[in-house]
Amino acid sequence: MTTENKHIHNALKQVHLNTRKFSLSGFSISGLASYHLLPELNFAVDMGECPLSAIPLDHVFLTHAHGDHSRCLMRHHSLRKMMGIEKNAAYYLSENIYEKACNWIRAEAAFEGVPEYRIQIPNLIPVKTGEKIILQYRKDLAIEAFEVSHSIHTLGCTVFQFKKKLLEKYLSCSTEEIIALRQKHIEITKEVYEPIVTFMGDCKSESLLENPSIWKSPVLVTECTFVDDNEEEMARKKGHSHLNQIIETFEKKRNEIECEQIILNHFSMKYSAKHILDALDKKLPEFIKDKITVML
Ligand SMILES: [Zn+2]
Ligand SMILES: [Zn+2]
Repeated sequence: MTTENKHIHNALKQVHLNTRKFSLSGFSISGLASYHLLPELNFAVDMGECPLSAIPLDHVFLTHAHGDHSRCLMRHHSLRKMMGIEKNAAYYLSENIYEKACNWIRAEAAFEGVPEYRIQIPNLIPVKTGEKIILQYRKDLAIEAFEVSHSIHTLGCTVFQFKKKLLEKYLSCSTEEIIALRQKHIEITKEVYEPIVTFMGDCKSESLLENPSIWKSPVLVTECTFVDDNEEEMARKKGHSHLNQIIETFEKKRNEIECEQIILNHFSMKYSAKHILDALDKKLPEFIKDKITVML
């Protein structure tokens, strides 16, 4: 560690990144806050802070209950109501924490003096792992959650482009033939889900090995909380990933990585940006370097 200013990370100063299909704004430093805004997808992942630019987004996926990822969920809901947005945002969260989230929301409302009869639970949608869910206000997008290994129950998620494609045997049909088949209620299409982006959430690096489909995602966002050599054991104990372990994973998966871009986020707040960039520059092998972007 260097002795540079440790208090330079500011959760309300957003980082802006571009990918081929969408832009990503937000912030993610361990312990301080994590939130990711994807305006073109009308989607957000986590709500550890809630800047005004998050308010118009209609879908929020919560990876886990740790406060630096979840504490502004209700702020998102309340600010929308205060600003006169009538549409209820869809909040996706694990079915395992659904009840607890309802209790938390009731407790917060009671703390603020809202009488019992006026407390309203926002539009929380319990999510099961391994099931594709079409987004409430974006029928062209779907999400699928998967469990990762962290200190508490945590879900990663992949966002997919959802399309119905004509079955191959009907590709040569004329428009009139297609219309005739439709009128006979014959199923002529198949559902196709193409991955757009995967968020790992907080996790140990093992989770990168346990979910092989993540490597097919054009953009993979994965945490890299620790980067210094003597911290690998600590990373494991705390349920986080260490840069050295992530690099080992890249080497193991070298021939399976189809991702165009891998975004590393959630660095420990004890490191300065320079410290992180120097460590990455020193450690990342050449074969993966061009794919890596950091959320700093
Ligand atoms: Zn975290
Ligand atoms: Zn966490």
